[in-house]
Amino acid sequence: MGTLKVLILEDNEYDMELVKRSVVSSSNYHFQFTWVVSKNDFIKALTDTKFDIVLSDYNLPQFNGIDALKISKEINPNIPFIIVTGTLTEEAAADAIKAGAWDYVVKERLHRLPLAIESVLKLKNEKLKLKESEEKFRLITTSAQDGIIMIDDEGKINYWNPGAEKIFGYSIEEVRNQNMHSLLAPSKYHSQHLPAFQHFRETGEGPMLGKVVELEALKKDGTIIDIELSLAGMQLSQGYGAVGIVRDISERKKAENEIKRQYYFIDAMLHSIPVPLFYKDTEGKYLGCNEAFSEMFGKSAEEIRGKTVTELWTERYSQTYNEKDLELLQDKSKQRYESVILDKDQKEHQVIYDKAVFYNEKDEVAGIIGTFTNITEIKKKEAELILAKEKAEESDRLKSAFLATMSHELRTPLNAVIGFSSLIDGSLPLDEILEMAKLINKSGNHLLNIIESIFNISMLQTKELKIRPESFSVYDVFLEMKSVIEAEINNEKKEHIFVSFEPEPNTTSTAIVTDKTKLIQMLTNLLSNAVKFTEKGKIEFGYFFTEKDITFFVQDTGIGIPSDKTELIFERFRQVDDTHTRQHGGIGLGLAICKEIANLLGGSLWVDSEEGKGSSFYFRLPDVVLKDAELPENVAEPSIPDLKNTALLIAEDIESNYSLIEAMLRKTGAHLLWAKSGEEAIRLASENPEVSLILMDIRMPGINGYEATRSIKKIKPKLKIIAQTAYTMPEEIAKCIKAGCDGYISKPISKIKLYDVIRQMMQ
Ligand code: ADP
Repeated sequence: MGTLKVLILEDNEYDMELVKRSVVSSSNYHFQFTWVVSKNDFIKALTDTKFDIVLSDYNLPQFNGIDALKISKEINPNIPFIIVTGTLTEEAAADAIKAGAWDYVVKERLHRLPLAIESVLKLKNEKLKLKESEEKFRLITTSAQDGIIMIDDEGKINYWNPGAEKIFGYSIEEVRNQNMHSLLAPSKYHSQHLPAFQHFRETGEGPMLGKVVELEALKKDGTIIDIELSLAGMQLSQGYGAVGIVRDISERKKAENEIKRQYYFIDAMLHSIPVPLFYKDTEGKYLGCNEAFSEMFGKSAEEIRGKTVTELWTERYSQTYNEKDLELLQDKSKQRYESVILDKDQKEHQVIYDKAVFYNEKDEVAGIIGTFTNITEIKKKEAELILAKEKAEESDRLKSAFLATMSHELRTPLNAVIGFSSLIDGSLPLDEILEMAKLINKSGNHLLNIIESIFNISMLQTKELKIRPESFSVYDVFLEMKSVIEAEINNEKKEHIFVSFEPEPNTTSTAIVTDKTKLIQMLTNLLSNAVKFTEKGKIEFGYFFTEKDITFFVQDTGIGIPSDKTELIFERFRQVDDTHTRQHGGIGLGLAICKEIANLLGGSLWVDSEEGKGSSFYFRLPDVVLKDAELPENVAEPSIPDLKNTALLIAEDIESNYSLIEAMLRKTGAHLLWAKSGEEAIRLASENPEVSLILMDIRMPGINGYEATRSIKKIKPKLKIIAQTAYTMPEEIAKCIKAGCDGYISKPISKIKLYDVIRQMMQ
C-alpha cells in the first residue's frame, strides 16, 4: 500500500482538519498532507512536489477553485483535482467539471470524499493506461513503414499514418474525411467498388477482407504505384469501417518484372542457341533443356524434366556420364570431355561435352548446366586428314626410297664401267683387258636393262606399245626360257638350286597365239626374280592347259612375300624391302611391267606366297591355244647376211657408235663409208653411186638426220635409208618415215636387229 501525497488548498483551518480526517477515516492509503492557503504557496507546492491528488476549496480569498484548477492543469495536467466546497450551485459544479475538475464534494457530505478520491485515482489509472495504449498505437503506426489507413462507414479516411503519407504523398490534413477509394484507386477500379462497398458497409463482409491483395494505387503526384493491401473490417457504432495496411511494392514489382524479363530473355536465348543445352539438379534430374536438345533427342523439355539420364537413355553411355557428373559436382568447376551420344534415330554421334556447375542464392551448388558440340564431321575430317598425311608421308618416304634405289642401281654398273675403263691401258696383258671389257659390257647391259625397263613401263602405261600376235610353239618358248634360267643360275652362281621344268606333257607341237616377245619378256622377269630371291631349295617352271587357256607358273622356295605386300609389288618402283640395307638389287619395275603386259595380252597375273617359304607366280592367257595343225613352219635361225658386193654409208657423228656398227658388220663383207655429219652424208651419197643403203643417225650436229634424208631422197629417191634412233616413241618413228626413211633401228643396236633390218631393206 503506497503513500498518497495530498495537497489541500483551504483558507479555513477547521475545514482543512475536517477534510483531512474524513480522507484518512476510511481509506487503505497512507496519506501525506500539505496544506496551503495562498495562491503563491499553492503554485510553489505544485511546482516543488509531485502530488497524487489536489483537494481544493471553491471559494478562496484571493482566487477561486476554477483558477486553482487552471493553475494545477498548467503545472501538471494529470493530477486529479477534486473541489471540496461548502456550497456549490448546480451551475458552478457543471462549470468546474467543464473546466477539468475530476469531481466535487460538498462539505456537508464529506463522508463521500474517500469514495471520490478512490474513483478519481481509478480514473487517473485508466487514463494513464489509455494514454499508454494510445502512445503505443501512435508509436507503432508512426514508425511503421507500411501505410495504415482507417476509414469510417462511409469510406472516409479518419486515420492516416506517416507511412501512408510517405507512400501516397498526402498529409493527414489533406486526406481527412476524403473518400479513400475515390482518392487512391485509379478510375478503372471505381465501377466495381461502389456496390461492393455498399454491401460491406451493411454486412461487414467483402471479398477483399482478410486477404492480402495486390493493386494499383494513385499517388498525389498522379503516378500509379503497385501496392499490397490487407484489409480488416471494424464494427463501428453504426455500420462498418475498415483498417487497411498498405505496402508500396513498386520496387518489388519492378524487381519481379525485371526477373520475369530476364527469364523470358534467357529462355528465348536458350532456345535460339543452335547447340543442344540442358540443365539438371544436383541429383542428376533434368530441370530443362533448349529446343536444339529436344530436336536432337526427340524429347520435349516437359518429357525430360524430373528424369535422370539413366531413366531416359541407354545405360551404355549413362554410366560414364553419371561418373563425370559426380566428379564435376565435387570439383565445383568446369568440365570438357569427348563422348558418344545416341540421337533420336539411335544414330551415334561423337560429341564434346562442356559442363559447369551453377549456384543458388545461398551460394550452394544447385546443379549442372551443359552443352555438347557435335564433332562427328570434324572427327571424320580429322581421320581423312591423318590418312592424307600418312599417305603424303608414305609417298615422301617412297620418293626417297625410290631415289636411293635408283641411285644405287645406276651407280653400281656405272662404277664398273668407269672404274674398269679407266684401268685399261696399253701396259695391261690382253686377257685382262678382255676380262675387263666383258665386265664393262655386262654393266653396260645392266644399265641398258634399267633404261629399257623405264621406257617399257612408261610406254606400256601410256598404251603406246602395240601387241603383235603371232602363232608359235609353246614348247619352243619353254625351251628358250629354260636356257634363260640356266644362264641366270649360272650368272648368279646359284647352281645349288634345283630347277625343275614341268611343261604340260605331249605338247611339243602345241601352238598358242599371242605376242611372243612380250610373253618372253614377262617370263624372263618372273624367272630372274625367282632366281634372285631364292637362296636354296628349288625353282619349278612350267605350264599347263585348261581347254584353250594356258597358265604359266614360276614357283620358288625363296624368301616369299608378306601377305600385306602381295598387291603392292605389282606397283611401279615398289619392293617388299625398300630400305637401303636391302640385300637384292633391282628397281621395282619388273612386276609392274609384267602386270601391264598381262593386261595388254588380255591375261591375268597373280601370286601366291608365304613369307619365308616361297612364292608362286601364275600367268594365265585365255583362249590362245591353237590346234596342232595350225602350227607354223619352223623359222630358220637368223644368219649373217652376205653383203660382199654392197656399199653401205654409215652417217654417225660419234666414233664409238660407228666402231660398234663397223664391228657388227665386219663378217658380212660389206664395204663401209663413214659420214661424220649430215652434210658429209649428203655429199658421200651423191658422190658414190655404188652406195645401196644408208644407216642414218638422226641426232647429229648441224644438218640432222631428217634433213639429210630429205636432201638425199630428193637426189636419189630409190636409195634405202634406215634411221638409227635412240627414241623409240611412235611419233619419233613416224617423223623418220615422213622424212623419207624406209626403216628404223633403235639404239643400242643389237647385231640381230641390225641383220634383220638390213635383210628387209635388201629384199
Ligand atoms: P625388283 O626385282 O627390281 O625389285 P620387281 O617388280 O620384279 O622389282 O619385284 C618387286 C618386288 O617384289 C621385289 O623387290 C621383291 O620384293 C618382290 N618379289 C618379286 N618376285 C619375288 C620372288 N620370286 N620372291 C620373293 N619376292 C619377290
